[in-house]
Amino acid sequence: MNKWINNKTYVKIHSGYNEIGGNIIEVGHKDTKIVFDLGLSFTRYKKFYEWPLRTPRGIDELIELNVVPKVPGLFNQNEEDINAIFITHAHRDHSELIQYLQKDIPIYMGETSKIIINTRKEVYGNKYEIDIDTVIRPLRTGYRVDIGNIEVEAIHVDHSIPGAYAYIIQTPDTTLLYTGDYRLHGGKICEKSLTLDLIERAKQYDNIDLFITEGTRFIDSTPDREIDVLNKLNQIMSQFNGLILLEYSYLDIDRYESILEASMNWNREIIFDYRHFIFLYNLYKKDPGLHDKIGFDRNRDLIHVYVKNIKRLRKNVKETLSEIDKEGFNVINELDNIIDKNVILEGFDLHLQDIYKKRPEYCIAIHSTSEPYDEEIEISYEKIINWLKMLGAPSYRIHSSGHIHPIDLMKVYREIKPKDVLVIHSEHPDQIKRLLQKNK
Ligand SMILES: [Zn+2]
Repeated sequence: MNKWINNKTYVKIHSGYNEIGGNIIEVGHKDTKIVFDLGLSFTRYKKFYEWPLRTPRGIDELIELNVVPKVPGLFNQNEEDINAIFITHAHRDHSELIQYLQKDIPIYMGETSKIIINTRKEVYGNKYEIDIDTVIRPLRTGYRVDIGNIEVEAIHVDHSIPGAYAYIIQTPDTTLLYTGDYRLHGGKICEKSLTLDLIERAKQYDNIDLFITEGTRFIDSTPDREIDVLNKLNQIMSQFNGLILLEYSYLDIDRYESILEASMNWNREIIFDYRHFIFLYNLYKKDPGLHDKIGFDRNRDLIHVYVKNIKRLRKNVKETLSEIDKEGFNVINELDNIIDKNVILEGFDLHLQDIYKKRPEYCIAIHSTSEPYDEEIEISYEKIINWLKMLGAPSYRIHSSGHIHPIDLMKVYREIKPKDVLVIHSEHPDQIKRLLQKNK
């Protein structure tokens, strides 16, 4: 654990220091205690567990194995309370441990994150011991919340998932800025990064005493933007006729837009895995801010939803799929008619054996996710490559990161001019801190 103190304010990094993901940060002043993010560290999780063979039997086991740190007042009923929890975004390495909360601590997060967490419950059957509908209190950018003698302001940032927020935290003697995961690039041409709003807001505060920033990227950075991804997808689709197998982080709505735009340009239909599609569908239905971005009204004919065996699914998933069908999307349950066509099969990594059985004439694969850090995917990359070799499918990686790269981070630091910095969500916190402090 890493601890930082200023007057009567303290910051404890319970998890997420010197590692990527698993953020749990406690900020306190006198009797008020707030926790920011409830992330699971996949690095430590993978040492003991393997889905679906071996999954955690509860929070006590996770704490005993040191997969999750012991945070007084957070998971244990009998200890003094944490007053509130703020989640920056719904990636699992920032929010997964909500499942293990046993008492009703108010949880603040963006409205979009709440939709995503509810959809995980619907699609993957995530179980919660608390009633998340009443405990989660949704935020929008600019909202300020008073918790005891601490004020927290939420400001949206760009990240590879919608609904990501940074928090400016004011105690009676200290001002802190916690970024969560963010980037300064992203968005399409002419679209300004949401993160610029954070910089402007941070500059209005007199002094940021501590800047708690992510530092995921250090080695092998590229300044790729989403527009570069779109250009590369266009290039491939213009030159290749045949089946394109594609995998992307299905919560990345910017990526979804690029894939859809390239598909529209080259008149290619997309077959979505039903699980991923339900997330898109719920965000489209329930989040007015994403309605245009997801844009089902423009392109319903291009979209199909693949579900192999609808009978085996849980009742609520069946109901959502029947609603999707009634809304005019084409729900298909076999791949026969598409395997040798100019279509895109999204989420192919979940259907490798079905694809192999059909022996497509030829196909290529596009990985549109990052390696090796991914906040959502658990299937081993090596195994996917082995199947692709058997299929004779060459693969491309087309990606733009959700995380800020070092030069942009230096830019943000120069603008905000914090008194001190703590780099988390990073394997190189000391090097990044030195880099930032040298470039004032
Ligand atoms: Zn993230």
